[in-house]
Amino acid sequence: MAAMLTVSTSPEPVSGSIAPMPIPGHIDPVPVPRAPFARPDGRVDLIGLSKDQLRGALAEAGMEPRQAKLRAKQIWHWLYNRGATDFTQMTDIAKAQHPWLAERFAISRPDVVEAQVSTDGTRKWLLRSPDGQDYEMVFIPDADRGTLCVSSQVGCTLNCRFCHTGTMRLVRNLTAGEIVGQVMLARDSLGEWPSQPEGRMLTNIVMMGMGEPLYNFDNVRDALRLVMDGDGLALSKRRITLSTSGVVPMMARAGEEIGVNLAVSLHAVTKDVRDEIVPLNKKYGIEELLQACADYPGANNARRITFEYVMLRDKNDSDDDARELVRLIRQYRLPAKVNLIPFNPWPGAPYECSTPERIRAFSNIIFEAGYSAPVRTPRGRDIDAACGQLKTAAEKKSRAELDREAEEKQAALA
Ligand code: SF4
Repeated sequence: MAAMLTVSTSPEPVSGSIAPMPIPGHIDPVPVPRAPFARPDGRVDLIGLSKDQLRGALAEAGMEPRQAKLRAKQIWHWLYNRGATDFTQMTDIAKAQHPWLAERFAISRPDVVEAQVSTDGTRKWLLRSPDGQDYEMVFIPDADRGTLCVSSQVGCTLNCRFCHTGTMRLVRNLTAGEIVGQVMLARDSLGEWPSQPEGRMLTNIVMMGMGEPLYNFDNVRDALRLVMDGDGLALSKRRITLSTSGVVPMMARAGEEIGVNLAVSLHAVTKDVRDEIVPLNKKYGIEELLQACADYPGANNARRITFEYVMLRDKNDSDDDARELVRLIRQYRLPAKVNLIPFNPWPGAPYECSTPERIRAFSNIIFEAGYSAPVRTPRGRDIDAACGQLKTAAEKKSRAELDREAEEKQAALA
């Protein structure tokens, strides 16, 4: 899952690019596999390749295998530890070999369409893929850490009703290179090369931008493995959080194969309300989801599961809802903390934010039961507004609303 980032609708894809993936519906989306995007200049982009793939790419281009092994190691270090974007920077590789490499390989970053800085220091980038799809990343600095919110898909198939990402017409999975590319770009922008274990501004990553990461499992896993690799970007798995809206069958694999912290977009404690807010609930219900959380590999009191809960006035914010949340956490013996998120409405949004008093009362009930329940401070509100202006039709109804209306019409006709 993800967050409530607003996005711009992208221009028509350039000809010869990957065809857009139609949104297949909000209960049972089926992401369509895509061939990797081929660069128009025919070069292979090295960003996003695993160490083995990098060695294989050099060998396939004609480099002698023993040399390919050595060069792959050197290039890896330059890419992910030093942040090199040009082969001429790689001083331990013979100068004569630089043109050979540059003819065959590229070191890319996502194109920046727009970068904004909030008065509170939050930075937001609108990025564009080579096939003309737009996605966002956000950097949120705090006193003792900085968190990068990374997107996993262009748009999202899930259409949670409180989320504005559903306005996008098109969806495709981001590649591993486009996902790790966001981290590389943030490091460029923060001036954090070479990679240092201490004193970084970018200390944490949340897979909480656009898209449902567990519907793009392989690319997210491969990208996060690059981010965690100790020879390169070297971010600890304890500082990375993957946020899902509840793709139950993939949660155990996420724990085993990625091993990062888990956040779950819960947002409601009854079937009716969660069916409405997070339509994926019709496929994977609350009990199934909480059992998958209880089984999540590596979750314990030192590494608790975060439950995201958006506060919607008169919808999910009663004292009874808070008590039921506590009951469920106890029933499944979950090492849990709860993040309460004041809803940030957009024009035409179907909900309002709960009052501050209600949010406080809700938080107190959870806190008094022995669980942490901080209220997340909204950040970068001023650039949120500006970002809305990037949209070609900011006022248009969200995809979720359009789907819902179509369903209601069909039901009326039946
Ligand atoms: S629709 Fe749901 S899963 Fe998708 S980006 Fe929005 S909140 Fe996340």
